Amino acid sequence: SQAARIAALQDTTARPGRTVEWPQVNGSPAYVSKTFGVNVFSLKTLAETLPKSVYARFIQQIKGRQTLDRPTADAVAHAVRVWAQDRGATHFTHWFQPQTGTTAEKHDCFLTMKTVFSGGIEETTAIDAFSGSQLLQSEPDASSFPNGGMRTTFEARGYTIWDTTSPMFLRKGPHGTSILYIPSVFISYNGEALDEKTILLRSSEVLSNAAVKLLNLLGDKESKRVYATLGTEQEFFLIDRSLYNLRPDLKITGRTLLGVVPPKHQQLEDHYFGQIPSRVLAALSECELDLYKLGVPIKTRHNEVAPNQFEMAPIFEEASVAVDHNLLTMETLHQVAHRHKLKVLFHEKPFKGVNGSGKHCNWSLSTDQGDNLLDPTLKPETNYRFLLFLVATLDAVHKHGGLLRASIASASNEHRLGANEAPPGIVSAFLGDHLNEVLNSIEENRSVRNFSQPHLQTVKVGGTVLDVKVSTLPTIARDLTDRNRTSPFAFTGNKFEFRAAGSKQSPSLPIVLLNAAVTASITEVTEALIKQKGAKAEPSIDDILSVVRVYITQSKNIRFEGNNYSDEWVKEAEKRGLPNIRSCPVAFRQLLEAKNASLLISLGILTDGELKSRFHILMEKYAKDLLIEANTLKTMVLQGVLPAAFSYRKELTDSLVGQKALGLDFSASPEKSLLDLLTKLTADVQAAANTLVAAIDRINGLEGDEQADAAGTELTVILEDVRSKTDA
Ligand code: ADP
Ligand code: MG
Repeated sequence: SQAARIAALQDTTARPGRTVEWPQVNGSPAYVSKTFGVNVFSLKTLAETLPKSVYARFIQQIKGRQTLDRPTADAVAHAVRVWAQDRGATHFTHWFQPQTGTTAEKHDCFLTMKTVFSGGIEETTAIDAFSGSQLLQSEPDASSFPNGGMRTTFEARGYTIWDTTSPMFLRKGPHGTSILYIPSVFISYNGEALDEKTILLRSSEVLSNAAVKLLNLLGDKESKRVYATLGTEQEFFLIDRSLYNLRPDLKITGRTLLGVVPPKHQQLEDHYFGQIPSRVLAALSECELDLYKLGVPIKTRHNEVAPNQFEMAPIFEEASVAVDHNLLTMETLHQVAHRHKLKVLFHEKPFKGVNGSGKHCNWSLSTDQGDNLLDPTLKPETNYRFLLFLVATLDAVHKHGGLLRASIASASNEHRLGANEAPPGIVSAFLGDHLNEVLNSIEENRSVRNFSQPHLQTVKVGGTVLDVKVSTLPTIARDLTDRNRTSPFAFTGNKFEFRAAGSKQSPSLPIVLLNAAVTASITEVTEALIKQKGAKAEPSIDDILSVVRVYITQSKNIRFEGNNYSDEWVKEAEKRGLPNIRSCPVAFRQLLEAKNASLLISLGILTDGELKSRFHILMEKYAKDLLIEANTLKTMVLQGVLPAAFSYRKELTDSLVGQKALGLDFSASPEKSLLDLLTKLTADVQAAANTLVAAIDRINGLEGDEQADAAGTELTVILEDVRSKTDA
């Protein structure tokens, strides 16, 4: 009602600001580095508390990816309990990532009852304890999480197992206490992966093995491990809680199902990189402080394009840790926003008509020696290692673009993909002028053309400098590539940016499927190179270039440097035979395509059963998301919109009755024409709502994939129709 709206608006203006207490040293705010990681149980802390030999055994076992022996696990458990309890911990929890897009936790207290016999008397006392076996695993009920039919309620056992590659940490509990978080994987009684973490770890391992083999072939005997690096640019909206509370659609579905675009939104392009509003800055800063303590290296914060849209980004890390940290970032933002009476929206498209939110997944490959394998350096044309890993990545996107498309599909991201702000449903890769020219020159067997541009002053040895024509400004180095904001998979200097990923989703699946595809291509490239080098100990430059050339030619179709939002690209992609996948059910089916399924199964990342279950979970979630939206809209229209229209009609009718009573000619009165229009629009809304209700009833009765397909083709259209009629 009007009164509720006014009260909410008054709330928003009357709020006192919340001040963040930054840790102080000698009366000044502490250096960021001093607060970093204080709530993380680091290896350094462990080394300080454990006897040297036990610590050495622990390190040997986790680095060698072996199972921990019981005495070592007991010692680590004891050390971490004391560390945690000294910092107020009462409980511990195995923190895991079921296929819900969020994390899950069950808390157990350190409290243990111990019975002692003393002088013939039995006495039970309370002690604090935490054993190695409690640290290593716990047992949640697996049947209540999405499992795609893999677990029935009568065979419900599942296990969470400590992921020793990700550090344990403390989070705030109630009454000033804290809780020890143990990052974990989640598997079924039979060892099937029920979560996002197990498959990420599996994909990391096969990727490492394949990449190390290629490096060895190139004469690198130092690198023992290669890992994917990930930096997630997280976009989100922040809105006042009181206004949020007025919207059942936002609360239930994460997006507005009704409502027109306001007269001023993002047309003036005045929000992007604008001064961060003070209330928002206070909230982001408090969030960052919590995250620094948790060891999450947040680096960047800024206003995004749409009103009230913002972004936070960390320094990149090893992918599995980066995924944990992205999920922690989202959860912390959620909690801190609450303290500031704000609500954070992670939905990819909360508001129609303005930009939505993504989560750009910046991905590269690093050796354990700290070398970025996708760093082109100054002369990429002679950086053969780079060229091999680059063409392997392009080949992966070319062969398994469908997997990448599947990994970012969801009911919410569907609103963003293909809208003129996010890459379309066609997967392509952007390289930039320079690299494009390098690849073309290799393909055409010629030297690299100089392509200096008029505004570029000089070409230094290998690099380019920009002249701004202002003598007081320093000259700056120009990046090797310009940006292409429209590409779903863009090379940005020394990494690829998978821009199509959704803001709300876990970055895990996109990285798993990308890792998988790249692993297969690296292996293929390695085998081609072995064949090419023949009996020689190491491949020659010519050997490398001829393999690189084959893969450049083979994957060429996937490269696109132009505007991905344009209609020409849609046509061009069709000519090239690239799939343009618009709907989620079609995208999800990519997982089951023979070449994709056999890739995942043969690499051991997913079993056939795990893959099918994952497909069913995605389909089911999609159908449920749409049905929840449909039911929410139904209630809003039947209980809110139509009654409001009816009372307005009554007001107009009463006015006309009054005019008639006064003997006025009301047939041409403004109320009369308004009444006619309102009557027509109301009838339209009612008819559309009836269609919605009928569709819900019918689709509710369907099962499995049929339900997802029908929801995708029917509900999406009806939801839009009800909206446009209601907005009118
Ligand atoms: P932009 O995309 O605007 O160029 P940045 O250069 O800050 O922004 O990078 C965005 C994200 O990419 C950051 O999270 C950053 O840490 C991450 N990033 C940078 N280098 C790598 C890399 N080698 N691997 C993975 N992520 C990276
Ligand atoms: Mg970026």
